[in-house]
Amino acid sequence: MPVVRVALDVPLPKLFDYLAEDAGRTDIGRRVIVPFGQRRQIGLIVELAQASELPATQLKSVIAIDRDLPALPAEWLKLARFAAGYYQHPLGATLLSLLPPALKRLKPTRAEPPAAYALTAAGTAHLPDISPRAKAQRQLAERLQQGPLPLSEAGAWRSHLRLWHRAGWVEAAEAMPASPAPASPPPQLTPDQAATVAAVLEAPAGFGAWLLHGVTGSGKTEVYLKLIEAQLAAGRQALVLVPEIHLTPQTEAAFRNRFPGARLISLHSGLADGERLRAWRACLDGRVDLVLGTRLAVFTPMDRLRLIVVDEEHDGSYKQQEGLRYSARDVAVWRARTLDIPIVLGSATPALETWRNAERGRYRKLELPERAHAEAELPAVKLIDTRADRPRQGLSASLTRALRDRLARGEQSLLFINRRGYAPTLYCNGCGYVVPCPRCSAHQVLHRKGGKFELRCHHCGLMSRPPEVCPDCGSLDLRPAGQGTQRLEETLADQFPGARILRIDRDTAARRGAFAAMREAVNAREVDILVGTQIVTKGHDFPHLTLVGVLGADQALLSPDFRATERLFAQLMQVAGRAGRAARPGEVLVQTGYPEHPLYRALQAHDFARFAAQTLKERREAEFPPYSHQALLRAEAERIDDAIAFLDKAKQAGLALAREHGVTLFDPTPALLARVARRERAQLLVQAGSRQHLQGFLGPWLEAVRGLPTRTLKWSIDVDPLDF
Ligand SMILES: [Zn+2]
Ligand SMILES: [Zn+2]
Repeated sequence: MPVVRVALDVPLPKLFDYLAEDAGRTDIGRRVIVPFGQRRQIGLIVELAQASELPATQLKSVIAIDRDLPALPAEWLKLARFAAGYYQHPLGATLLSLLPPALKRLKPTRAEPPAAYALTAAGTAHLPDISPRAKAQRQLAERLQQGPLPLSEAGAWRSHLRLWHRAGWVEAAEAMPASPAPASPPPQLTPDQAATVAAVLEAPAGFGAWLLHGVTGSGKTEVYLKLIEAQLAAGRQALVLVPEIHLTPQTEAAFRNRFPGARLISLHSGLADGERLRAWRACLDGRVDLVLGTRLAVFTPMDRLRLIVVDEEHDGSYKQQEGLRYSARDVAVWRARTLDIPIVLGSATPALETWRNAERGRYRKLELPERAHAEAELPAVKLIDTRADRPRQGLSASLTRALRDRLARGEQSLLFINRRGYAPTLYCNGCGYVVPCPRCSAHQVLHRKGGKFELRCHHCGLMSRPPEVCPDCGSLDLRPAGQGTQRLEETLADQFPGARILRIDRDTAARRGAFAAMREAVNAREVDILVGTQIVTKGHDFPHLTLVGVLGADQALLSPDFRATERLFAQLMQVAGRAGRAARPGEVLVQTGYPEHPLYRALQAHDFARFAAQTLKERREAEFPPYSHQALLRAEAERIDDAIAFLDKAKQAGLALAREHGVTLFDPTPALLARVARRERAQLLVQAGSRQHLQGFLGPWLEAVRGLPTRTLKWSIDVDPLDF
């Protein structure tokens, strides 16, 4: 009897054998319900075998194979297997984590009604037979002859549609927008854009990774659109990844406008389970031309995929921070290589890993050095030395003056400060006490809600009332220390009573649709001053914005994280790029106590290449990525000693292997943020000169680590970690 090898969502890196009387090769990639221990579980059939290594008496039979859904294609299984192997995550847990949530439930998923119905050939043939007296049916027939009928417009026809569907007269179809907006003519490509498009289109067929390095406002999206157009015209599929969920509606609108006839699907974690399932199903059925989505979309099954675009490829949100800790950008590159198709990675501030790949010739570099609109110049960046021009309530005199000028001219300003809340801490002026989070090794942040203050921990979410007297010295003189977005908003309202101020941070943007509303208000010029965190730096175009002020950026220069400056530079380039998008020149004022710092000098020159060269030199000297490859074994326990002791044992277990593979194991250390929600966290860094060495070591080492006793301790492995 055939045996199926099933992947299950369990923390063991193996497959499980089951008997399946009627299973065949076409069942590979199908969902299956199997008995597991005392329970039933959903699994995925990954392999077929004639016999099992287990004795027949130990084999159980599958309960049911789900043949309603098409099987997952071999290419998808290969992609998921690569991700599980590379990121050292159990295969079953990986495969199941990549399915839409609705497919992980044991209860049979009720077939989602299709988004729309279209006539089949049989239905068309049947139409003349409808009785003239069946008025509703005749109207339905007429309506269907005009094109697919979205279920949302079916109204009283729903029951007829159900019957006709059963009879095979109609079939599921994609819901097209009722009346696609007339596509605006595409703008004329600039010579740089045209050269870029030509370079990719005229390259020999097959795998090619392109780094599209374009300054902010250079029109990278136009290049993507042209490349996608070529694929769609040939009946092929394209996949576009964007970093942020709130950027998808905007990008989606641009794509729909350009390709009104294309079947476009947008995928992100904000979709309801039903929508996600429907989108997945459409992809499996091949009823999709273009997929647009956040990192999870990289795992969309697409059988005619011929182009991948990763926009803002440097963005940290492409890296998943739990479970399967994958980088969607890196998985996308692997997928493109395996499919032998081109991939375009776009950014104004590429990740240094990507930049180095381009410098070494592994990726081909395409440059868009100028803004797409001839009159829009890059903004002038000026540094305000805060040692001379001391900020009051966060604002220097120069920045205040610049804001006043913009208000007088009716232009918009943006103040960028990467701290949400009212103030980073509550501070005792008597003894210097600051309020700690009792559960984490961090301070609590002061927030203002309504008229009241509250303390919140940004790591564990704990909320509490601020103390009225200092718990250490009894002083009543407790003050907010430093600036957050809320306090800056308050200061601005004091200083510019007539100004219309809008704050955008994670607290205000949490509501659905908040971003669209914000964009509208800004574009309708109902806002004079925007105050925001890094959330505003990404992808938004504000044509009337002519001033950007940057506060508190120096913080990142002092961070022990070696990637902090890379992130800061990207953020500052992005935020500076918001200024002067239209005809008026923009100005960027950066308040800093280190105006000589090379990072700010490179920013003034809009010179990413210079910044990259400097930073890569430092990385090379320190043997940091991209000059080495890393993995982080993390452990968390109630006591830090237990976490360290576990990592020590893991290190001992790996020493001989590490020598063999040329890999360095560092000593375990407490994490930068050692305590979160009463759990103590420690980590062990693994470093190697090449990816192959690191990968060769990790597999056998983790097998040994899995054998170590853990009790209540939890551990995880992060390959190519971004956060320490
Ligand atoms: Zn005190
Ligand atoms: Zn906390």
